[in-house]
Amino acid sequence: MSTDKRSKLLHVCEPNAERSSFSNTTIAVHVTGPEAAVFYAHEKLLTSSSLVLVRSCRELGSASSNRRIFFENLDPRSFNLYLNWLYTSAITLSSADSTGEQRYEDHWPLLINLYVLSIRLEDLDFADAVTDAMVSYFAHTKRSDWGLQLPISNWKHFLYDNTPPKAKVRRLLVQMYAHVRDPVLLDERDPAEFLAETSQAMMKGAAEDPLMSAATCCFHEHGNSRSCYRDRL
Ligand SMILES: [Zn+2]
Repeated sequence: MSTDKRSKLLHVCEPNAERSSFSNTTIAVHVTGPEAAVFYAHEKLLTSSSLVLVRSCRELGSASSNRRIFFENLDPRSFNLYLNWLYTSAITLSSADSTGEQRYEDHWPLLINLYVLSIRLEDLDFADAVTDAMVSYFAHTKRSDWGLQLPISNWKHFLYDNTPPKAKVRRLLVQMYAHVRDPVLLDERDPAEFLAETSQAMMKGAAEDPLMSAATCCFHEHGNSRSCYRDRL
């Protein structure tokens, strides 16, 4: 049996792993906006990672009735993916249509929406997981038949408008472009800080492949005082 298969087999039964309890209360999360939706999730999972959701659920108190919380102007597709991540620890980007056929899809708008959602929910682990998903998507499209995909100018602005200047995800964006090192991919409408940093990085030569750099957590926000979410998978 190969080492890979053996480690997967050992993963099936981890004697010391914590199990989830599905007997506790569910909370209804109402998201409003152009596409309003209601999601139901177990309180224990809902409050396992996001500081905002911890506070929202605490404010509900212990009364069993009316366990509802509300979020204004939240993208339901992004929130549904967030719940999927809470339940499965995976960020699922599907490229299959309703017939199951694989097709090309630009996932950058969704990935950037997910990152901004992580900030709104104050969920550091989710932010780091989304950053990893960005690296993975970049690496995947780089070697795909569709060709390399990078976010268009509008989405770069959305990311820069909703992240602090020191956000590691901005470093990732710069390094992706500096790694490819093709000035044609830059757009004069891109955010000024992004253009300045990327042009400077490009002048130094081709940057390291972000996939290699990501292994060292250099695009993660957890720092030294907190463990990496990958170590808890
Ligand atoms: Zn990390």
